[in-house]
Amino acid sequence: MTYSLPLPYSINKDWLLLEKLGEGAFANVRRMVCKRTNSAYALKLIDLKKNTNTEKSAKKEACILKLLCHPNIVEFYQTFMLKHDEQIFQCIVLELITGGELFHQIPQNVGISISQARLYFNQILDGVEYIHSCGIAHRDLKPENILISVSNNSPCIKISDFGMATVFMIDGKQRMLNKECGSLAYMAPEVTESAYFAQPADIWSIGMILVLMLTGTKPWTEATKFSTKYMKWTKNEISDISPWNRLDEYTLSFLRKILNPYPMERLTIPQIKDEDWCCSQYMSNINKI
Ligand code: ADP
Ligand code: MG
Repeated sequence: MTYSLPLPYSINKDWLLLEKLGEGAFANVRRMVCKRTNSAYALKLIDLKKNTNTEKSAKKEACILKLLCHPNIVEFYQTFMLKHDEQIFQCIVLELITGGELFHQIPQNVGISISQARLYFNQILDGVEYIHSCGIAHRDLKPENILISVSNNSPCIKISDFGMATVFMIDGKQRMLNKECGSLAYMAPEVTESAYFAQPADIWSIGMILVLMLTGTKPWTEATKFSTKYMKWTKNEISDISPWNRLDEYTLSFLRKILNPYPMERLTIPQIKDEDWCCSQYMSNINKI
């Protein structure tokens, strides 16, 4: 990424920009402090010179974030443009989340404990259910875009990165979406088709996040619809395929209802929440390799 703001960098008399917290395909995120109050924030800097579509989508991201207010969604404060030399950034001031990405908490090929995964999963469901209730689809749910905030020693999920998010409910009417977006490993099979419904597509991604949390392995990394491993999943020919062969039948039957190839048959969030797997204290024997 072409990106070179000095460290530290005084944006104006109020804001001081400090070290990098993370980066994605579109933005760089840095810690920022308010010089007057000493409060810390995260500043997402979207390089508007990257492509012509960026300014519109950066503004859309800020508009969507502004609408949302929920304990499992990263908090939005304000947005502004920043010019430095030849560079122009759309800046989004966000709540600073200090626990890092969910992605970095999941040991590769091992995963996290089932009780931890259930705790995170339920919070992700709460956050996404709220987003959908606002008529918004996230469209890029993955462990890199899910942050962990730690306060009073208890971790709390914060869904972030609304760069792909869009409105699917207009005047109480649901519109179908058609833009292929998200990350291949978490993308529902129907997203590569010309029209798809917002909610089931996000629910698929949540299911794939759960598999990653439980096993530390992505079932496939290519486009779902064209993956031979996905074909085997749909035919239930998975007994010797990793990571499925490390999950017990109870967890697999739960996942089959979420990772259903037919979006209209996929469980909805209220239905997922009603499943025993989410509520119970059931501890499965997941084989950690
Ligand atoms: P992109 O749209 O380029 O993917 P993201 O919004 O996902 O950008 O931000 C990139 C990375 O920056 C995240 O994966 C995370 O590591 C870090 N990050 C984003 N927002 C915050 C925040 N509010 N607090 C702390 N770190 C953040
Ligand atoms: Mg991201």
